[in-house]
Amino acid sequence: MATVTEYDTIAAISTPPGEGAISIVRLSGDQAVALANHVFKGANLTKVASHTIHYGHIVDPRDQQEMDEVMVSVMLAPKTFTREDVVEINCHGGIVATNRILQLLLAVGARMAEPGEFTKRAFLNGRIDLTQAESVMDLIRAKTDQAMKVALNQLDGNLQHLIKNLRQEILQVLAQVEVNIDYPEYDEEQLTAQMLREKAIQVEHEIDQLLATANQGKILREGLATAIIGRPNVGKSSLLNYLLHEDKAIVTDVAGTTRDVLEEYVNVQGVPLKLIDTAGIHDTNDKVEKIGVARSKKALSEADLVILVLDASEALTKEDRQLLDLTAQQKRMIVLNKADLTSQITPATLAALGVTEDPIVASVKTKVGLTKIETEIKTLFFGGIENQQKDILVSNNRQIGLLQQARASLQQVLAGLNQGLPVDLVQIDMTTCWDKLGEITGESAPDELITQLFSQFCLGK
Ligand code: GDP
Ligand code: ZN
Repeated sequence: MATVTEYDTIAAISTPPGEGAISIVRLSGDQAVALANHVFKGANLTKVASHTIHYGHIVDPRDQQEMDEVMVSVMLAPKTFTREDVVEINCHGGIVATNRILQLLLAVGARMAEPGEFTKRAFLNGRIDLTQAESVMDLIRAKTDQAMKVALNQLDGNLQHLIKNLRQEILQVLAQVEVNIDYPEYDEEQLTAQMLREKAIQVEHEIDQLLATANQGKILREGLATAIIGRPNVGKSSLLNYLLHEDKAIVTDVAGTTRDVLEEYVNVQGVPLKLIDTAGIHDTNDKVEKIGVARSKKALSEADLVILVLDASEALTKEDRQLLDLTAQQKRMIVLNKADLTSQITPATLAALGVTEDPIVASVKTKVGLTKIETEIKTLFFGGIENQQKDILVSNNRQIGLLQQARASLQQVLAGLNQGLPVDLVQIDMTTCWDKLGEITGESAPDELITQLFSQFCLGK
């Protein structure tokens, strides 16, 4: 493990861009305290106790010009985010003032941090593993409490522990195989093969369980792409407005997210919906342009979930039928809206047409059935998941890819055993599985991968 002293001192603005009340410039490395002290007028930071905060001013040592009134936190290694000395300068200013302080620190000897470099150091200094590093990234992007919880769980190291245990078990079997190969006189080939088979099946099962959570994990991370469709005037905008405005604030105080992006998201009982083509829904000027069949097709191709709204107060039209057909193969929720009026369409009407789902009878106007719509969205996507004891969701593509590769090598193991291959050949595939699982936690991750991974982080994290 590399030691702390091998790294230079890095600096970056670690609060999100924009006009916040407070911005933080963060330094990490051997020289963090000395550099901060060099530009700070107030207490002598090189003499203060660790984990203390100090009031003062940032002053340019070259011309003694005062730049900002600040609070400076000094946190000495090893109990810091990076395990190095860390200094955080809390400044007042908007982006211009904050940038000037950063520039000043660079001028006196700090190096501009690469994106994700603080987290990378935490990893390199052994404070966190890769799954935890990734969860930092997830936290930055988390869109709902539920997503936040999953990320926090990984930060806690749950996935890491599970993977480590699996690797340990595989290692034990491999060691046993090794022993048996070394003492062929015992003729334990049969037994060894049996042992490998059992372990491969067991590990495969556990990997399958993890992979089964991948879809939900991905949705939590990226949002459930949802299309609200239906012919004009059935109540799409009304439903959309309900979803958007009823106490559905999305986590906004998280770095790296912008308002434009957030407006597309709505939190429904912990499920982040990413609403597709809301512009189309809001398009009230041109009736013809309102979501018709043609426009729906495009939205549908991107949707994880379709909410098809029908106007129950009017008989089913040709367009309604087309939309029912068009969405038959998709994960779909049918809303029979305007139930406050005399109904022309009932659940029985749809059942007679061969629709298998139970529609939700609702009235956006009188607020009937709306909670049911939300609960349905939730159960559609968390069915079974919340009851799992482990509460681990695999949510990112890198982890999913590696799990799939690990799984493939287990299938090689099983295929090899079935073909009666010698165990020392089969053993190679088992070792590959062990390696792939190790890449997930970073125990066997190649350097380029680590660099690429951390470069995805926001600057200053
Ligand atoms: P969209 O064209 O599908 O977006 O439909 P809108 O949401 O714009 O609604 C069309 C009309 O239906 C508006 O006048 C709404 O007030 C009305 N509306 C929406 N939902 C209901 C409902 O549940 N009951 C009744 N009676 N009217 C509704
Ligand atoms: Zn509308």
